[in-house]
Amino acid sequence: MCGIVGYIGKRQAAPVILDGLERLEYRGYDSAGIAVQHEGAIQVAKATGRLEALYHLTRGGTTLLGTSGIGHTRWATHGVPNDVNAHPHTNEHGTIAVVQNGIIENYIALRERLKSKGYTFVSETDTEVVAHLLDYYYQGDARKAIIQVLQHIEGSYALGIQFADQPEAIFGVRKGCPLIIGLGDGETFMASDVTAVLKHTRRVMYPGELEIAELGTEGVQLFTTDEEPVTREVSEVAWDISAAEKGGYEHFMLKEMMEQPKVVRDTLSPHIRDGRIEIEELKISDEDLARVNRVFFVACGSAYHTGVTAKYIFESLARLRVETDLASEFIYRDPLLDKDDLVVVISQSGETADTKEALKMAREAGCRVLAIVNVVGSSIAREADFVMYTMAGPEIAVATTKAYSAQLIDLYLLAMKFASARGYLHGRKLKSMMEDLAKLPEQIELMLNSREKIQRIANRFIAARDVFFIGRGIDYAISLEGSLKLKEISYIHSEAYAAGELKHGTIALLEEGSLVAAVSTQPSLHAKLLSNIKEVKARGAVVLGVTTMGNREIEQESDFCVTLPETNPLFANSLAIIPLQMLAYYIAVGRGCDVDKPRNLAKSVTVE
Ligand code: GLU
Repeated sequence: MCGIVGYIGKRQAAPVILDGLERLEYRGYDSAGIAVQHEGAIQVAKATGRLEALYHLTRGGTTLLGTSGIGHTRWATHGVPNDVNAHPHTNEHGTIAVVQNGIIENYIALRERLKSKGYTFVSETDTEVVAHLLDYYYQGDARKAIIQVLQHIEGSYALGIQFADQPEAIFGVRKGCPLIIGLGDGETFMASDVTAVLKHTRRVMYPGELEIAELGTEGVQLFTTDEEPVTREVSEVAWDISAAEKGGYEHFMLKEMMEQPKVVRDTLSPHIRDGRIEIEELKISDEDLARVNRVFFVACGSAYHTGVTAKYIFESLARLRVETDLASEFIYRDPLLDKDDLVVVISQSGETADTKEALKMAREAGCRVLAIVNVVGSSIAREADFVMYTMAGPEIAVATTKAYSAQLIDLYLLAMKFASARGYLHGRKLKSMMEDLAKLPEQIELMLNSREKIQRIANRFIAARDVFFIGRGIDYAISLEGSLKLKEISYIHSEAYAAGELKHGTIALLEEGSLVAAVSTQPSLHAKLLSNIKEVKARGAVVLGVTTMGNREIEQESDFCVTLPETNPLFANSLAIIPLQMLAYYIAVGRGCDVDKPRNLAKSVTVE
């Protein structure tokens, strides 16, 4: 969740690290700090709150001299956000500095042991034990000390480590949390993700779990906890720094919404060949696919909503048994898994802790696991049997838009692949679905172009207290995502309800003027939804209809209506979600919210 940046090279380290931390701001944090090594000593600066405070304190990094250092933005898990708990943490002499992402689970026992050996602790964090443990084991050999520490700490973490008497190196290691290495010319970087190093290099390396990285000016050496050297290939990142900048937009979220036509096109195109769907990554023959007994979709947040959508699509198109689960529930409910089941885990960051745990559980049960992931080289991508990447590029805004849209595309492709393999999709039907898929980017563009209309509607509801989203079937899945978007960035209370459930409870909450967004994209359900709209209007609700073009009755019954171009109803989510994303965005902007970095939220949730 937090950000780690490390640098060693010829330049002054602090300004480079601060710039890198700024690019990781989107991950969510509440304090920041930096340590720089110079002439055999380590200088540390920390500040609570936004990075600006650290900038001020260090005059943009200029007060910290030295060409190697580590920096951190903290998302507090152990101890309140304050200057003392902010990282880096050091040993008592200030000669070893540590930054950490994640959680050291056995820190209490370790702290007690260290206290009994005379160590004193100043912070409430779990991280401080790492600094003191390093001190305990360090006798001039950094590698050995780090290995010993790794043998004692438990949990999921990434660490950046620096020693005052080791001017030639900084160290990094990851277990269950991300850490990448950037290889420059006479300089080397480490960071929680590539956006922090892209300004300097596109050549990156992804260390494996518990592979210790020793960074020097001339590159990196990786070794195992047995001190065996490891080689990892160097990858070239496909996009450049402009992909991680706002490019003239007021917010990353707006920029990312506007990128959706391209993202959808990029995600689709590698899989369409001669009018057929090819999913090369899924190394399962059609015969074998046809034998899959059940598919589980397991994910969190918006990715879970794509899984809810997928359930409807797979059942109706491929006539396959499907279960969709929240990862945090799946891992504790002892699901009945079979080796003929395919488990599909979906995660933008590829680091989502609960989803990762679900993946592990599924593999232990002998299931094959397919991951739908955006971040190349992420833990989930490495641990799954097969990976389908979403081609969304870096997503910076905490509230997902383009990665969600790309996940939907991968799921459509997968559903069609299964349906073909099982003999339910071929000939004219397949052709028409392929045509509808190909039209989606343009149709999404069309929806994005109507944003002024949405903005006008949004302006009416800036002061709303409660908003309800209703729909049936796929429209219920769309409602779930529309509602989440609104609450996460505008802080307005909102609920999504399967429209048929309204009268079993929720309708009691409606008041004169409550906003109800009614989604109706499934022709077979229009009449049912129309009745639900009438029910809520009779209780004084104001209705925003989101429906397919030409659906007169719903248009007439709604107070406001957004119409969608025609597509296969199974793909309707891709179009209907656009106005709902924009509604959330403009309401949040109107309320003066920090749209890209909503309170209390982090971009990738690496803790359970
Ligand atoms: N558990 C550590 C702390 O609370 C690190 C949290 C983080 O990932 O920023 O300080």
